[in-house]
Amino acid sequence: MSELSYIMIIILLAAALLVVLADSRNPKKTGKKKTGLKTGIIGAMDSEVSSLKEAMADRKTSSVSGMEFCEGTLDGHDVVVVRCGIGKVNAGSCAQLLINLFGVDRVINTGVAGSLDAAIDIGDIVVSTDVVQYDFNLTPLGFVPGEMNSPAVKSFLSDEGMRKSVVKAVRESAPEIHVFEGRVCTGDQFVSSREKKESIRESFGGLCCEMEGGAIGQVCIMNNTPFVIIRAISDKADDSVEMDYAEFEKAAAARCAAVTRYMITH
Ligand code: SAH
Repeated sequence: MSELSYIMIIILLAAALLVVLADSRNPKKTGKKKTGLKTGIIGAMDSEVSSLKEAMADRKTSSVSGMEFCEGTLDGHDVVVVRCGIGKVNAGSCAQLLINLFGVDRVINTGVAGSLDAAIDIGDIVVSTDVVQYDFNLTPLGFVPGEMNSPAVKSFLSDEGMRKSVVKAVRESAPEIHVFEGRVCTGDQFVSSREKKESIRESFGGLCCEMEGGAIGQVCIMNNTPFVIIRAISDKADDSVEMDYAEFEKAAAARCAAVTRYMITH
């Protein structure tokens, strides 16, 4: 064979290799959406994220600050799903890690909550318009309850587009479920008395109480990252709470995760 033939064969082999490489990165073959957003999904407890993790493809897990971040795709959409643990510090650091280390474009907090409103029953869904940290208190210095000085806000506003997509997701995927849009109230406390429930409701006018959303909202606003909180009601946050919470936590958590999945993938 002549020297020219060898060169031609090498060129052809190199071209074939390039075609194979390009094809393996084809979004259709990898299941990844070409121009989609990367969504961070935070739940405080396993029951709130396990069904999402199980439904993921191309999974890669990494452990940071004691939290397991599960990267991959959900029906072809890029997601990072993580259980942050209960409470504001866990939730806030988790949101910051999702933004800094995993480069998410937006954040969803899925989970269960106590109802603050007589019209909102166990199994109903609340989607955040905004979120307030009801236990943040600078009132002796002239601030209103929950008002912060840095960032200087009274509450953290959710992304309107994400909120509308969640409401649409509930209406399309589970029209029998009642969905409410309004304020979520967050504090480092499990609310289980009528007095506490009423005092939060009177001061903040929220629809539900939980222990993570306000920290996630704060971190997202500080980083210009859109967020929404989706909560299924597990209890009434009053003296009936212990019985109800134990009975309904798992079903409410799974319901909320199903809405989250539908919202991302439709
Ligand atoms: N079952 C857990 C404890 C759950 S704490 C354990 O044994 O480890 C309650 C969780 O559900 C929190 O993540 C909080 O966000 C939410 N939640 C549900 N009902 C609540 C209520 N009445 N008050 C505050 N948080 C509530």
